[in-house]
Amino acid sequence: MEVLYNSTRSGIAPVKASEAILKGLSEDGGLFVPDHIPALDRSLRELAGMDYRQVAYEVMKLYLTDFTEEELKTCIDRAYDDKFDTGEIAPLREAEGAYYLELFHGSTIAFKDMALSILPHLMITSARKNQIRNQIVILTATSGDTGKAALAGFAGVEGTKIIVFYPKNGVSPIQEKQMVTQKGDNTLVVGIHGNFDDAQTGVKKIFSDRELAAELDAKGFQFSSANSINIGRLVPQVCYYVYAYAKLLAKGKIAEGEAIDVVVPTGNFGNILAAYYAKNMGLPIGSLICASNENKVLYDFFRTGTYDRNREFVLTSSPSMDILISSNLERLIYHIAGDDADKNRELMAALNGQGKYEITAEMREGLKGFYGYYASEEETAAEIRRLYESCGYVIDTHTAVASAALQKHRKSGVSEGRKTVVVSTASPFKFSRSVMNAIDEKYDSMGDFELVDRLSGLAKVKVPDAIEEIRTAPVVHDRQCRVEDMKEVVRGFLM
Ligand SMILES: *Cc1c(COP(=O)(O)O)cnc(C)c1O
Repeated sequence: MEVLYNSTRSGIAPVKASEAILKGLSEDGGLFVPDHIPALDRSLRELAGMDYRQVAYEVMKLYLTDFTEEELKTCIDRAYDDKFDTGEIAPLREAEGAYYLELFHGSTIAFKDMALSILPHLMITSARKNQIRNQIVILTATSGDTGKAALAGFAGVEGTKIIVFYPKNGVSPIQEKQMVTQKGDNTLVVGIHGNFDDAQTGVKKIFSDRELAAELDAKGFQFSSANSINIGRLVPQVCYYVYAYAKLLAKGKIAEGEAIDVVVPTGNFGNILAAYYAKNMGLPIGSLICASNENKVLYDFFRTGTYDRNREFVLTSSPSMDILISSNLERLIYHIAGDDADKNRELMAALNGQGKYEITAEMREGLKGFYGYYASEEETAAEIRRLYESCGYVIDTHTAVASAALQKHRKSGVSEGRKTVVVSTASPFKFSRSVMNAIDEKYDSMGDFELVDRLSGLAKVKVPDAIEEIRTAPVVHDRQCRVEDMKEVVRGFLM
């Protein structure tokens, strides 16, 4: 059955998957959502016999219904190839009775590679299907990982350009180095004087600037978004939940149909929303455990039904989760309102105006199965040390937030004791300083690359290529700008 995409903010005519991918965001400012969540049409047992690419096809074909089988398989083959350092693509690692789903084996050693290695191919295919002749300009705000993953995905891809804005003082030194060393004539990387929300708001403003769009169209350009709001990011993320379940079944860790819990370290709410979609496709998932760092807006939301961004923004050791406006939550709000765009628009207007909104008691019913937890900076560091000391497994700071949430959930009394997948979103090598300091403060005095080597020794894991490359790579981007000047920077690069 064909899936069409509606906006979360109005009843404008639904669009096909390829159109939603090209647009990124709906003209009314809403996010695209599927008009129904398709059901898996393969048995869990059949899926258990498949490799990552095959599972990805079985999931994505149900959402991207205007893609032909050949188009979709070509996109999947180009994305999930030897850019990943393991043929499993998303391996599961058992530690202390939980299963850590390692989503960091792609080219930038963080989970955003899972979606951003396929998005350029979905986008180019979508452009061809819609007779688009303009160049596609990817405009992205990043809190660290998206930027490099998007740059790596789009660099050198014909018919595209990519511009990345990041908070100048809000990403780790290694994240910054990864971005500013990006090669490719079609790339631009700019540090803004502000935080991630400022960057994201600035990008949204440029997107909704009609005059600029017309000016660019005349020159043969059009914007699209690689941010996690693009449905072409969300759909590929559903795949690894199905894959993880299938692998647990294949390995005899669970029985067919047995429910599992998932714990997801959350920022923009994209990753955990994909788990919610997987669950609604019929994948046996029990609890969806949403883990936040000290920017615990979502924790408060699940507890109280009020989303309130009026609070201090905290810089933590898990910067990719330092977010006060979780854009993808809007999709969940829309669904639990009964796919009601008017109700959702009202709440988003309140968020925009007063910085907060409260959902109805009826809507809260739709949150059943979600649990929110948060980990303080001390708890996050303690969890890294605890897990390392108990079994030698070294996790990064984001994964540690999730792992700490799991410990809290187990103690809470509401846990049903199910087998649990902890989503592991970054390699510890990407955040070596925080990780090593958590294990022992004596590492604090060492240089970044010395730490990387020490970490390799402790974890008994080879230093990933992504890190080796930036040891010596020259800086090719040194632009900075004020938030007010983002638009001019964009015009300057394109014209
Ligand atoms: C982006 C990111 C997250 C948060 O994912 P969302 O989909 O934004 O919730 C968590 N960990 C890492 C390492 C990330 O890069």
